[in-house]
Amino acid sequence: MSEPLQVWIDQSLCTGDGLCVQYAPEVFEFDVDGLAYVKDGADELLTEPGARADVPAGLVQDVIASAKECPGDCIHVVRARDGVEIAGPDA
Ligand code: SF4
Repeated sequence: MSEPLQVWIDQSLCTGDGLCVQYAPEVFEFDVDGLAYVKDGADELLTEPGARADVPAGLVQDVIASAKECPGDCIHVVRARDGVEIAGPDA
């Protein structure tokens, strides 16, 4: 898949288990609240609800796997172009 993708997390459903952080620590990280957030290219946590981060090309498979296996079903991987979800609870 070469289409640019973005990813966001619905923290209201995050269980804090850390699966996503293990899969792709470049994209997902815990904040002090114990919930996972996405990071932008400058390694900055995006804590606004629904904030999307770009998925680096080399991490697409890891990010999609995270969305598929996320116990909270709260990782949304979307096409950057039109926001259509390609992995996650709304895919
Ligand atoms: S895998 Fe899902 S539930 Fe687990 S920490 Fe990441 S976002 Fe939260």
